[in-house]
Parts: sequence; C-alpha cells; structure tokens
Amino acid sequence: MTILKDELEAPADQRRFGMGWVSGVAAFVLSVLAFGTVICLRYPDQFAAMGQPLYKFLPIRLTLQIGMIAAFLLASLSLALRRNKVLGTTSMAIILLASALGGPHAQTDFTGESDLYLGLDFFLLNLVFLGLVFVPIERIAGNRAQPIFRTDWREDLLYFLVGSLLVQGVTFLSITPSMTILKQTQGASFRDFVAAQPIVIQFFEIMFLTDVVQYLVHRLFHRIPWLWRFHAIHHSAPAMDWLASSRMHLIEVVCLRATTVMPMFLLGFAQPALYAYIVVVYFWSAMIHSNVRLNFRLIEHFIVTPRFHHWHHGIEREAIDVNFAIHFPILDQIFGTFYLPEKQWPSGYGVINPKIPRGYWQQFLFPLMYFRRTKPLDSIHDATHD
Ligand SMILES: [Zn+2]
Ligand SMILES: [Zn+2]
Repeated sequence: MTILKDELEAPADQRRFGMGWVSGVAAFVLSVLAFGTVICLRYPDQFAAMGQPLYKFLPIRLTLQIGMIAAFLLASLSLALRRNKVLGTTSMAIILLASALGGPHAQTDFTGESDLYLGLDFFLLNLVFLGLVFVPIERIAGNRAQPIFRTDWREDLLYFLVGSLLVQGVTFLSITPSMTILKQTQGASFRDFVAAQPIVIQFFEIMFLTDVVQYLVHRLFHRIPWLWRFHAIHHSAPAMDWLASSRMHLIEVVCLRATTVMPMFLLGFAQPALYAYIVVVYFWSAMIHSNVRLNFRLIEHFIVTPRFHHWHHGIEREAIDVNFAIHFPILDQIFGTFYLPEKQWPSGYGVINPKIPRGYWQQFLFPLMYFRRTKPLDSIHDATHD
C-alpha cells in the first residue's frame, strides 16, 4: 500500500507528461471506479442507494464496459512508459478482479428485501462528478504547488467515502426530529402559503434562511469548547481543495443537516426548491473549499467565494473566528466577523489548539474523549483556538 501511495504522491519531476504517471493514475482511478460499480451491480440491495430507476435508465453497463477498456489501455501505456510498474500492475489486477466478478455482465437483482444499505453508488457518482468538475479547474486556476495527491488526501477521501456510504443513516437521523414535529403540528395554512410562492423565490428564501441558521450554528461550534472539538476536525485539514470539504465529524454532519435542510422542510417549502437547494449546496461546499485561486472581485462581497472561506480556515491570527457565512458574506458584515484583505490568501491552513490527531478513527474519537475527563473543566477557553 505504501508503495502505491508513494507512486501517487510522486515528486513533480516524476509526474511529467510522457513518464507514464498520468496514464497510470487515470488507469488506477478508472479501475477502482469500475470495481466499485461491479460491486453495486452485483449486490444492489446492500450497496445501491440510488434506487432501481437509476439503474434502469442510465447506461451504467455500457459506461462500465468503456471504462474498463480505457483502464486496460491506460494501464498498458503506463506499464510501457514508466519504470515503476506499481500503478500499471495494480490497475491491471483490479480490472481482472472486476472482470472475474462479472464486469458489465454482473447479475443485478433488486430483491427489495434489504432496508439497510450503504451508498457505494452515491460515493462513486459524487467522486466522478466533483472530480471531473474540480480537478481540471484546480490544475488550471489553483495553487500549482499543491499536487492532486497532497498531504492527508487519503484521510479526506475516507471522510468522503464514509459520508457517502452512511447517507441513509445520516438522512434518517437528521430527518427524524422534523418529522416528529410535522406529525404533531397543525397550521397547514402557513405551509400552503410558503409552498404557493414561485419556486425561484422559495429557492432564494431557503438559501438565505439556512445561511442565517448556519451562521449561528457555525459560530456556536467555534464558541462552545466541546462543540469546537467536533468542528476543529473540519479545520484540521492541512490543505484546501474540493475534497477537504468532506472532512467533517459525523456528529457535525448530522447537526448541520438537522438544523438547515430539515427546518425548511418543516416550513413547507416545495420539494423542487428543496432539491435545487440540496444540489446547489453540494456543489457549493466543494467550491468554497476548492483550490481555485481566482479573485472574484466584483462578487466576493455578496457571495461566498473560495478566498472568503479559505480565510475562515487560515492559520493567521486575523483569520481566527471570522467569515462564518456559507452563502452570503453580508451576515459576517452585519455581525462584525468579516475579514477579506485585498487579493491576499492565507499562508497556510489548520488548527493550533487543540492539537488534532491524524487518522480517521483517532479524529472520530477525539471530540468524544472530551467527556471522559475526570477532573473539572479547569479552563473554559482550553479547547478554543484563540
Ligand atoms: Zn469553522
Ligand atoms: Zn470549511
């Protein structure tokens, strides 16, 4: 595994075009995607969160076939060009395994018997979609000194994987409080009024209302020591790119969903407006973390841009507890937490206090350990980062 990691993280002079690195990485990514797709096709009840219609209407088998052939050709090219054969041979082995499991002809049987599933297909689709959008933009307009396989990329990918796999559980946990309230409340007329507005208006209302809530929740996560321990995990990302947005403690993910999307559902907003919001936010979150170093000078005071959110993650003293908004910087201007120096970017990212351990499981347990302290909370500011 470490040999593979070293190859993916090869120094710049070993990654030049024509050295078999690009083809090797492309073959490796494609073969992993193909293998994952075969697993979804073979065990849909356990791994297919996207439901039967998607598998019926999307040309998944054709795409898989093309992907496997492309992976095979790219792996052959990498083997021919590159002295180090680890990317080429690993990709070949994964393609062989995917073929042995049936490849595009793998049997798909939705029995509908399973109530619990892992969203493996959701993960693969997310990865392809966001990767195709952001990797090229980051290569062109990002900080070039930061490679694709930068520090801690594996940890962030694991956050991305676990978050997608547990999509069912997270949705269930965050939807339950709202559903309970919905069942016990009357006053449908207000909800009818909300739903009767034009969808575009509803969409912007949702964007604004969720941002107000998000601003307050986000600020609480910074202010209250034990909450900060959860949120500090998100801030511990040492490098910023589209993948860094997924580094978030599961408890925080549930809290955020439960306080943003679900109340909107409760207020009666129509489903198309809610879905549009969910899709936009999903891109937005990747966008504001992305390594895209463009200065959107005309709009950056009205809409959150990468530079604005990068300052929220900055290690500079001035970057502590500023820029909490996710959509509209005006909230930070109103509450006096706005910080955006002309054209500058932070010199680095991360948290100093508390010291966050490395590794997914260590980070998962880290905030929970706070409650096991036997001695009284000696200093309330102990856990904050200022
Ligand atoms: Zn924060
Ligand atoms: Zn962030």
